[in-house]
Amino acid sequence: MARYAFDLHLHSCLSPCGGEENTPANLAGMCALAGLEVVALTDHNAVGNCGAFCRAAEAYGILGIPGMELTTVEEAHVVCLFPELAAAEKFGAIVKEALPPIKNRRDIYGPQILMDEEDNVLGEEDCFYAGATSISIYDAADLALSCGGIAYPAHIDRPSFSLLANLGFWDPAMHFIRAEVSRSCPADLFQREDLQGIPHFDASDAHYLDQIQDAHQYMDLPERTTEAVFRWLFGRNDAKSG
Ligand SMILES: [Zn+2]
Ligand SMILES: [Zn+2]
Repeated sequence: MARYAFDLHLHSCLSPCGGEENTPANLAGMCALAGLEVVALTDHNAVGNCGAFCRAAEAYGILGIPGMELTTVEEAHVVCLFPELAAAEKFGAIVKEALPPIKNRRDIYGPQILMDEEDNVLGEEDCFYAGATSISIYDAADLALSCGGIAYPAHIDRPSFSLLANLGFWDPAMHFIRAEVSRSCPADLFQREDLQGIPHFDASDAHYLDQIQDAHQYMDLPERTTEAVFRWLFGRNDAKSG
């Protein structure tokens, strides 16, 4: 077993609210500089930069995981991660169908830029990725699992776009097996009756390069592979801070 520093919630320039300097290559390079070893790209309702990010991460010697931050119909954010790009793209196509049928207003929300791993612009997406999908939070985990992935609620301690803020409580019927918190999460949050025993870790949720946090939490893996990361995510061990 070895310990690997991780951050599984990062945004690229495909997120309308993400910095344009957050290109897949810049993001991967900054993650490597920060000492991170397992990282995931989770743009809002979109997976279009995941391939570029994972290839850029590999070039920097770190492991990139394809993912998405899904906005459910309840306007709660859910991190969805996939063991391979094809699975993420399958999920991405389902989510695209569940987006409202309107175009992005780049003057209000910002551009949604597709790039390759060498910082070349491939184009812009004009779907309205900033909005809520028609997917219920009660279906998110099962839907991700049907594509081979895992989904868990994002930054549940935050006062907006979170499971606790928007739903008010943790319901086992949602089938989430872990939770993400922000780094400033109060230590006593998980003493709440509905949260006791729920495995959790934090994430930077970086929308700008300077929001990427230094290595501070680790997963114990027999090898740094996507398969080992997913065995860990599905519940063999929990994150250790330190
Ligand atoms: Zn979020
Ligand atoms: Zn986010």
